[in-house]
Amino acid sequence: MAEALNGNRRILVVGGGIAGLSAALEAAEAGFPVSLVEKEAYLGGRVARMNKYFPKLCPPNCGLEINFRRLKNNPLIQIVTLAEVEKVEGEAGNFEVSLRINPRYVNEKCTACGLCEAAAITEVPDPFNYGLKQVKAAHLPHEFAFPLRYVLAPEVIGTNEAEQIKARLAQFLRDDLKLELSEEKTLITHARTGAARFLGYEITVQHGSRKIVRGRRAVNGSIGLRVPRSVIKAKSARYMQRGKPARRTQLMNIDDHDIMASTGPSTGASSSTTCWPATSRD
Ligand code: SF4
Repeated sequence: MAEALNGNRRILVVGGGIAGLSAALEAAEAGFPVSLVEKEAYLGGRVARMNKYFPKLCPPNCGLEINFRRLKNNPLIQIVTLAEVEKVEGEAGNFEVSLRINPRYVNEKCTACGLCEAAAITEVPDPFNYGLKQVKAAHLPHEFAFPLRYVLAPEVIGTNEAEQIKARLAQFLRDDLKLELSEEKTLITHARTGAARFLGYEITVQHGSRKIVRGRRAVNGSIGLRVPRSVIKAKSARYMQRGKPARRTQLMNIDDHDIMASTGPSTGASSSTTCWPATSRD
């Protein structure tokens, strides 16, 4: 059955409460790709909102945390929050499902630093607490929210307050972190969806889903260091002529050893001052 269902087929689990979470995890751990769709901004459903739960009367974060860890470690599960099923078409074994995804107004680069919350003024009823208390318009859905990402209430979108929050973030980067931002030279990211620039190099966090080793993406989380094409071009410009390596006729009658000894950081030094061991020539 596993083989029949694998291939391009994907299991859709609607609802990211404890039942949906368990179903998605069990299916994914049996080898099936799963899409887990949740209408709230976080997973855990009603259990996440409880104080204690049966049978051991532990706090919900205790049991949920284990499942969230399993989720994080399973590349076969795609999590879609703030999404609702709009249409289901097809037949058993071949469904096509349309989702409506409500905006979070915060992308996956959020590190949950809380700056936007500190800068927000407007308060809205807290959906996590059934509207019984107020939260800032920029808020974390709850303390143990998974995914750990803020949401912006639609009430402030397009208002002056949203602009003020953005300005406060820019000020924090400038005044507290002493970062001079240059669109050209600096790109600040979490290096997952875009490369971070540092000293002319590009740093990326590899995120591949093709190669799976022992159930995990082989390159997931590995740090990549790249020299951008523009840097290579600038460095090699003085050796190029009309887009091709220039002929340096003055070096034609000099042997490789002498060329090596007279270029690069050791320019002008004799070969005996380099860290290279004695060559066969010596
Ligand atoms: S959205 Fe808010 S909490 Fe998230 S990184 Fe931006 S400022 Fe920090």
